[in-house]
Amino acid sequence: MKLRITSGTYLTMLTANKFFKCDPICQLCFKEPESIQHMLLTCPALHESRYLGSLKSALEAHNVQVTVDNILQTIMDVTRIPHIPSTSNPQVENISRSICFAVHSSRAFHLTWAGYTFRRPRRRKTPNNNNNKGAKVLAANSRR
Ligand SMILES: [Zn+2]
Repeated sequence: MKLRITSGTYLTMLTANKFFKCDPICQLCFKEPESIQHMLLTCPALHESRYLGSLKSALEAHNVQVTVDNILQTIMDVTRIPHIPSTSNPQVENISRSICFAVHSSRAFHLTWAGYTFRRPRRRKTPNNNNNKGAKVLAANSRR
């Protein structure tokens, strides 16, 4: 999951907008376009699933200023934060991975719950149609 997020292939509303011309606005909070940064750091709807605490303490432990840019950079590519020695990278990487996974799962859960889907809804026989047919048959029968 983290690989998709960091490689830019993760489908946020902003990237989906480029391909499908759909609304780039975050479908969870409707406050701003859904970028990776919005999803990972600022979307209020994902606030509870975002355990940034351990990442912040990891940055503080290495005297890295806790800023939005540094947090994002650490998640995207920890090797580009010079203060963090390569021996600590695997540990920080693990924290980043679990944050990405938690945020992704929560986002997917919220979107599914809201009935949102990127795919076009498939046509299928709905129980409603069947009920209508049944009602018509009943009405026809009762007229006889
Ligand atoms: Zn949002």
